Amino acid sequence: MKHKLKEILDKNRCFIEAGNLPTYIPELSKANKNALGIYIVDLNGEEYGEGDYEYPFTIQSISKVITLMLALEDRGAEEIFKFVGMEPTGDSFNSMMKLEIVRPSRPFNPMINAGAIAVTSLINGSPEEKFQRILTLFKKITNNDSIKVNHEVYLSEKKTGDRNRAMAYFMRDVGVLQGDVEDNLDVYFRQCSLEVTCRDIAKIGAFLANDGVLLQTGERLIEAKNAKIAKTFMVTCGMYNASGEFAIEVGIPAKSGVGGGIMALVPGKMGIGVLGPALDDKGNSSAGVQILSDLSNLFNLSIF
Ligand code: GLN
Repeated sequence: MKHKLKEILDKNRCFIEAGNLPTYIPELSKANKNALGIYIVDLNGEEYGEGDYEYPFTIQSISKVITLMLALEDRGAEEIFKFVGMEPTGDSFNSMMKLEIVRPSRPFNPMINAGAIAVTSLINGSPEEKFQRILTLFKKITNNDSIKVNHEVYLSEKKTGDRNRAMAYFMRDVGVLQGDVEDNLDVYFRQCSLEVTCRDIAKIGAFLANDGVLLQTGERLIEAKNAKIAKTFMVTCGMYNASGEFAIEVGIPAKSGVGGGIMALVPGKMGIGVLGPALDDKGNSSAGVQILSDLSNLFNLSIF
């Protein structure tokens, strides 16, 4: 297995060149563009890693899957979907275009920035409690107590996050965002700046592949129906406006982040974490997508 993973990484190293480090969050442009790693956690307890699977990166949009599950647990699906939709946009992850032109004014889904910011505002608790509850859930799922915010990335996001700020103010105006705008954005920027490795996100994938039950203890943290909603959004919206192509080429639930990570899973089988900080024009790891495509073809992983 390890040998096969190495082969796949080496074959796809060339796709790093096709991508670029993001600059809109200046701190992210300092990542090592050539880092490339993969980690697999299968539900039988086997784990396999290759390449830079211990290289730390910020989780960014992959966190949206966790906050969605937490909000669903807190409020129930019926309540959450009054504020955020269930449809892909076909637009980029930080687009604000449809917020105003499509009525009612609510974000299309919880995987785009607007939807995720609204979802974070729906999590129970004060802003500090929200963040602590998100962090606690992360630590439990990954079985990694040392996960923390990368302070430089957090400050960089907070300083340059005016597009997110604009969407959040608009959403408060139309009654989608609950509570104080800056407080909610602060939680969102912190959740996006949590520092993880391929291993951590593979664990999250495995947890979802296991329908919301912790592998290590058998404890159910998330109701199966909420894990199912999260996985479905990963298929329809997890790779933003490349989700359709990804479903055809790779065919497994996946969520990317601008830190270069992709968290993927095969239901009932395994969680997969991939890192490649250079991004394609849709904001997905350029080499990471190709690695997952090869992996899926080699082991016939597509769920379709
Ligand atoms: N924190 C990032 C942002 O708000 C998350 C986007 C992403 O990973 N696609 O822009």
